[in-house]
Amino acid sequence: MGIATINPATGETIKTFEPLSKAEIEAKLKLAQTAFLSYRKTSFSQRSQWLNAAADILERDQVKLGETMTLEMGKTIKSAIAEVQKCALVCRYYAENGADFLKDIPITTDASSSYVHYEPLGIILAVMPWNFPLWQVFRFVAPTLTAGNVGLLKHASNVPQCALAIEAILTEAGFPDGVFQTLLIGASQVENIINDDRVKAATLTGSEPAGMSLASSAGKQIKKVVLELGGSDPFIVLESADIETAATTAVTSRMLNNGQSCIAAKRFIVVDAIADQFEQLLVQKFQALKIGDPMDETVDVGPLATPSILSDIDQQVQKTVAMGGKVLVGGKKLDRQGNYYLPTVLTDIPKGSPGEKDEFFGPVALLFRVKDIDEAIALANDSPFGLGSSVWTNDPNEQERLINEIEAGSVFINGLVKSDPRLPFGGIKRSGYGRELAKEGIHEFVNIKTIWIK
Ligand code: NDP
Repeated sequence: MGIATINPATGETIKTFEPLSKAEIEAKLKLAQTAFLSYRKTSFSQRSQWLNAAADILERDQVKLGETMTLEMGKTIKSAIAEVQKCALVCRYYAENGADFLKDIPITTDASSSYVHYEPLGIILAVMPWNFPLWQVFRFVAPTLTAGNVGLLKHASNVPQCALAIEAILTEAGFPDGVFQTLLIGASQVENIINDDRVKAATLTGSEPAGMSLASSAGKQIKKVVLELGGSDPFIVLESADIETAATTAVTSRMLNNGQSCIAAKRFIVVDAIADQFEQLLVQKFQALKIGDPMDETVDVGPLATPSILSDIDQQVQKTVAMGGKVLVGGKKLDRQGNYYLPTVLTDIPKGSPGEKDEFFGPVALLFRVKDIDEAIALANDSPFGLGSSVWTNDPNEQERLINEIEAGSVFINGLVKSDPRLPFGGIKRSGYGRELAKEGIHEFVNIKTIWIK
């Protein structure tokens, strides 16, 4: 696929873009390296000022930026505007806390003075997906630029206007030329860039194949990578939970971004005692969702981002059903123009079917019934992924067990899994490694330098 804006609600190609030539890529790398040498010497307070200015621009232009996202990848306009606001929040968070996270840490040793000192690494490459076109980038930009690094963005090929808008925001905010640049390039160019000596590390959010490819290239160059890949998050509901609130949150979580979020709840694991009640509520709430034009503020679910995402999810559903899975609601594409899929609940998921282990990147809930908490934990952990988890119980002993026994990067109790600038975010197993956000996120791309003075 070329680099283009194609409206997922209509299939119309709005604008196409020429990928950068080799010479243009070289010029951008050169500029980034020159920019790094002076940018690394700027003060934290100067970087914070620029970040706060970026936050002001995001807030000022939230509607226009929201519309660009909706146009390019189909998220509902209300969620798009909320995403822009969250980007402003992460800028302000690091503007306020970044210097504190990176100040020297004295440590008593046999030296007269010894301490940990943090330094930027240089050019960091970000390979980013289309599902949260602004948020995924700003959660990289805010800590990375605060630390004194410079950034190069290879965004997904279906969101070029978002990619260019981000560069424009940071330039307008005052960041010097070359501190952040968008590269309009295809995925095949990424290896050359990571191989370049001037590029010191990379972060990728996206699919497993993309993660494996980047990590292999970076591994050959001994360069650090942070990976945030897929997830098939469990959503466990036990007997003491508030079932109504759990069911409402289940729908919100599964429908995040029209079902295309790595931390959306995907496997709903419910104990027998309350399973009928939960299932009924879930189906009712799925049926009540309004599907349609994502630019309409009253719409809950818009189209999927691309025709291939639509065909992938449909194939996963049809295969699971052919192997014995049962459709409680939905189960097919919508008979209209655009990449629309009906909100779907599947149950009686057969072993060996896609529903058992694969990630479903669309509005499809997989409902599993279990006898008790032991079975719930075992099923939750029987997944190649380990990103987030949401668990519902008011029993403190059960909460304690779930905190300790769920294999995931996070456990949210009686709430929706969400990213928050103040909390580290990331996964284990095939969901990736490393952390974004919070103090942990800003420490991923720095030289943690040991200083020892006799
Ligand atoms: P990809 O992983 O293909 O795309 C994410 C980013 O990686 C894009 O910028 C893409 O560029 C780039 N990329 C793709 N292949 C390579 C490669 N070999 N080397 C370097 N960069 C590469 O995601 P898709 O859009 O194809 O979505 C497919 C699946 O990925 C989804 O069904 C879902 O499972 C998962 N996914 C997970 C996300 C998450 O938030 N964790 C986000 C998006 C997808 P280009 O667009 O030019 O191909």
